[in-house]
Amino acid sequence: MRKKIVAGNWKMNTTPAEGVELLKGVAALKGEVCSCVNFIVCPPFTHLSEVVKVAKGTGIAVGAQNCAAEAKGAYTGEVSTQMIASLGVEYVILGHSERREYYAETSATLNKKMEQAYANNLTPIYCVGEKLEERESGKYFDVISAQIKEVVYNLSAEQFAKLVVAYEPVWAIGTGKTASAEQAQEIHAFIRKVLAEKFGAAADDTAILYGGSCKPGNAAEIFAKADVDGGLIGGAALVAKDFIAIGKGFAK
Ligand code: PEP
Repeated sequence: MRKKIVAGNWKMNTTPAEGVELLKGVAALKGEVCSCVNFIVCPPFTHLSEVVKVAKGTGIAVGAQNCAAEAKGAYTGEVSTQMIASLGVEYVILGHSERREYYAETSATLNKKMEQAYANNLTPIYCVGEKLEERESGKYFDVISAQIKEVVYNLSAEQFAKLVVAYEPVWAIGTGKTASAEQAQEIHAFIRKVLAEKFGAAADDTAILYGGSCKPGNAAEIFAKADVDGGLIGGAALVAKDFIAIGKGFAK
């Protein structure tokens, strides 16, 4: 049985106090959702300490949105996975398209970040996805395959067993344009096939999340697809009742 996951990427939104209130709102409504759904919230670094404390006992896990590529030392402004994990954080989002695009994150950087994540027992949520021009030119299978092979293929079988993957078509992130459930299923099945080429049957157990303008109104249809195991949610994760409503997209 694959894990069902609804993860919220808060991006650079909310103050720490607002973030705690948001988490409390999610926790208060969580009982309305099947207990089979694993909720994760990924606030900014500044919120992690307090959010982890408030999340204790709620069944909601906490993730970071990024981490340093190095273990420690003279890297001004960076935050190491040891620092993050020491707070009780369990996940880290890596390879988000905004980081690839605005912070020039390459596969080489992401390989180092993955290594750091595993070294401190954080579970990576590794994002892949094509840009609009790559979809329109039909190159998207190659792009996604390369994003997986250049990074995920370097993991050991033991590391791979923990990995969560998110398919986030860049043209659907924050744009209000969602991939259709069929488009999502096509790519999720493809991702699973590429993973299986390296890791065999273990790929059947990998949670692959969809991300990109996922909302209460479209989550159920997307989550119903065979290879979609949940969502990585941006905008809608900032409203507790919407985030919870997305969780309800999983039939009990
Ligand atoms: C994201 O950036 O991870 C995301 C899915 O954003 P949104 O839901 O706002 O499109």
